[in-house]
Amino acid sequence: MADCLFCKIVAGEIPSKKIYEDDLVYVFEDINPTAPVHYLLIPKTHISRLDEVNADNSAVIAHIYEVIAKLSKEVDAMKDGFRVVSNCGESAGQSVFHIHFHLLAGRPLTWPAG
Ligand code: AMP
Ligand code: ZN
Repeated sequence: MADCLFCKIVAGEIPSKKIYEDDLVYVFEDINPTAPVHYLLIPKTHISRLDEVNADNSAVIAHIYEVIAKLSKEVDAMKDGFRVVSNCGESAGQSVFHIHFHLLAGRPLTWPAG
């Protein structure tokens, strides 16, 4: 999608620190990490936000969770636990409107989230 920051990252037009990539999914380091591990998992196809997931596009979301499980077996900091967050809408803190899943690990994570 034109003028989408994360579509440009997928296309290689904006640099990123790649962690993992396959046909459907791109994983990279958050530019402003809030934990020792702070990755962003995004579908390569543009979906704006979580409330736009439907029967036609949900396969990639399921795949993202498979990738998270795979990473959890490879990333030492995830062995003690991790958190996955998708902010949906400005009130929830979404600032980039290409759906993404924050993967946080490597420090104690308090609950409830703010
Ligand atoms: P959210 O606020 O939930 O929409 O999350 C957007 C995330 O994207 C934030 O944690 C930002 O730090 C991160 N971010 C913004 N621009 C970039 C970029 N160019 N490369 C990597 N992460 C970014
Ligand atoms: Zn996009």
